[in-house]
Amino acid sequence: MDTILVVNAGSSSLKFEVFSVEGSLARQIKGKMEGIGTAPHLTIKSAGGDRLADEDYAREAVPDLPAATRVVGQLLRERHQGQLIAVGHRVVHGGPDHMRSLRIDEKLLRELERYTPLAPLHQPNNLAPIRVLLEHQPQLAQVACFDTAFHRGHDPMADHYAIPAHYFDEGVRRYGFHGLSYEYVAGKLAEIAPDIGGRVIVAHLGSGASMCALSGGKSVESTLGFTALDGLPMGTRCGQIDPGVLLYLLQQHGMSARELQDLLYKESGLKGLSGLSNDVRDLLASEEPGAALALDHFVHRIGLNAGMLAAALGGLDAFVFTAGVGENSPVMRERISRKLEWLGAKLDRRRNAVGELLISGDDSTVAVYAVPTDEELMIARHTYALIAA
Ligand code: ADP
Repeated sequence: MDTILVVNAGSSSLKFEVFSVEGSLARQIKGKMEGIGTAPHLTIKSAGGDRLADEDYAREAVPDLPAATRVVGQLLRERHQGQLIAVGHRVVHGGPDHMRSLRIDEKLLRELERYTPLAPLHQPNNLAPIRVLLEHQPQLAQVACFDTAFHRGHDPMADHYAIPAHYFDEGVRRYGFHGLSYEYVAGKLAEIAPDIGGRVIVAHLGSGASMCALSGGKSVESTLGFTALDGLPMGTRCGQIDPGVLLYLLQQHGMSARELQDLLYKESGLKGLSGLSNDVRDLLASEEPGAALALDHFVHRIGLNAGMLAAALGGLDAFVFTAGVGENSPVMRERISRKLEWLGAKLDRRRNAVGELLISGDDSTVAVYAVPTDEELMIARHTYALIAA
């Protein structure tokens, strides 16, 4: 059995999935090494949800991502049957030019390393396992799948910031992220609703959150820009903010760049607003005023951004919820859908409560969907397509 390994490496975790490639792609296992460098813990589950591994490791055994890559690689070789034919990696930043996934070699890896200043919290982690595998198994095919690639068809005018144009050439432009999720959802929507019109907004509402305007299945606008901080407030990230606030914090609070980075990435969003939690479930369960403020603000900003994206599309045919909040919370879907009523969206309460794919009523002029995303399957598909070619 030929297999493809999908790797999604973050700052303290390494998520991986194995797909078999017998005619079509089928998920075999899902795993996660968490607590890298602190309290490493590995879990592996079968596609059906059975627990296959649940192990603690000494901190010294898994001090960093390269070590985690080696440990997971060794374990998969020992315990997992199948012939690994390629590894597909999630890479947050593909820079301004790459519109599709690419086979990795030393030259591409060096180029991708140059984009680290554009995504300092994600890019080095994404690239670390690639480097390890390139050194230890140079013959193994590796593919980089970019979160930015799906948005590269934007009109360049839309991707500019209104600062002197030479900064755009230097790379200071709107990139947009969550592209693998949007690409998957766009494909799924074409399958389940081939006849809906071509003007669609997809809301990826997880711990990271953004929205994307699709015209004829292609991204034309995203709420995320130069970094994954822009647009909607997220679990711990601020979302859109007046740059004057940053100047104020630098000048009046004497903050360093590092302090500002920590504030905007780790202490803001739902967590900062509520003073309680970054998790929508906690906020829904809480009676604290901070929880209500954070959720009200989240819903408000999604409504405002929906208006902006509908303007980019010149109207709206469908609105799609996806990712953690979008897939699992009928309450949040209902609250957000109320902000879309002026555009013609009308939720069907029963469909929404049971979680059908189509959750709007038959009299809704905007079709509303809740579609589970699958970024890992998207990576496996890109990887397979590239090595098959
Ligand atoms: P990530 O961006 O880490 O991949 P997910 O897409 O898994 O995130 O989304 C995680 C978030 O989804 C959680 O932080 C939580 O706020 C939210 N979430 C998950 N399940 C529910 C639920 N049943 N109700 C409300 N929110 C949920």
